[in-house]
Amino acid sequence: MTPSAASLYDRVQRVIPAIEWPVFSDDIDAILKLKRERNAVILAHNYQTPEIFHCVADIVGDSLALARKAMEVEADVIVLAGVHFMAETAKLLNPAKTVLIPDMRAGCSLADSITPHDIRLLRQRYPGVPVVTYVNTSAAVKAESDICCTSGNAKAVVESLGVPRVLMLPDEYLAQNIAKQTDVEIIAWKGHCEVHERFTPEDIREMRAAHPGVTVLAHPECPPEVVAEADFAGSTAAMSDYVGTKKPSRVVLVTECSMSDNVAVEHPDVEFIRPCNLCPHMKRITLGNIRSALERNEHAVTIDPAVAARARLAVERMLAV
Ligand code: SF4
Repeated sequence: MTPSAASLYDRVQRVIPAIEWPVFSDDIDAILKLKRERNAVILAHNYQTPEIFHCVADIVGDSLALARKAMEVEADVIVLAGVHFMAETAKLLNPAKTVLIPDMRAGCSLADSITPHDIRLLRQRYPGVPVVTYVNTSAAVKAESDICCTSGNAKAVVESLGVPRVLMLPDEYLAQNIAKQTDVEIIAWKGHCEVHERFTPEDIREMRAAHPGVTVLAHPECPPEVVAEADFAGSTAAMSDYVGTKKPSRVVLVTECSMSDNVAVEHPDVEFIRPCNLCPHMKRITLGNIRSALERNEHAVTIDPAVAARARLAVERMLAV
């Protein structure tokens, strides 16, 4: 049976108040219809709001999962409910498809922190040292890199190279957090995620004092002193798995706000404490602009073919690890 907005509300009623639902239901019905008409699929990142994540998305996950799944999409159109570098990665891996990003302004402070020119200068300064680039970068930066990584596979990627030191760009905190787990020397850049850099060790201590027994899971884009206060650090996919397998009675996910809402839908028996740092870029994506992306075929992602070929190699090397 084809789902409708009315049949989907049960799924999200714990995180979307009934009074707010009428605001969403018309767009949800329109998007479900447009997806069928246009043979489109929606890929949504874990930081998308629940009405997108649970009601219109076909594939959800962290950036690694979205990259892997984008490659396998057979539909004609991919709408990326996430930020621009994710849409570029989908286009790199499945270039024959139309890839739409509903708002071109959905950027990322990490992607903005480094340019291809910066990487060329680093290569001059550290000759022969491989460049491992976080997927949170533009295609032009990926094209200058040897291999990509995500927060879910960064350690494995670094160690797969079989070298004593690597440049790991652009997230300084991810690089420092991975450096603690490996013997490979890691040279970092000064980029930060504007959402995760705001968490402090005091925040974690205050949460523990206010919510005794709480299990604290932190994203490795947080500063190392925040990760040190947590019970576990991992990508959004790893956090979600942790909740599903360990079933803590009370948990706090030290990451972007919507993640807790999305995981809470699957685990009604777990109490989620919700610290809230919103990603303004992720929040540029709404049901309204997903609907208009499908209606108007906007905004199609394009990448210079010469850049795309080199960037694709760096992403494919990562996926092969
Ligand atoms: S949460 Fe941070 S890393 Fe993710 S898109 Fe927003 S700014 Fe970029």
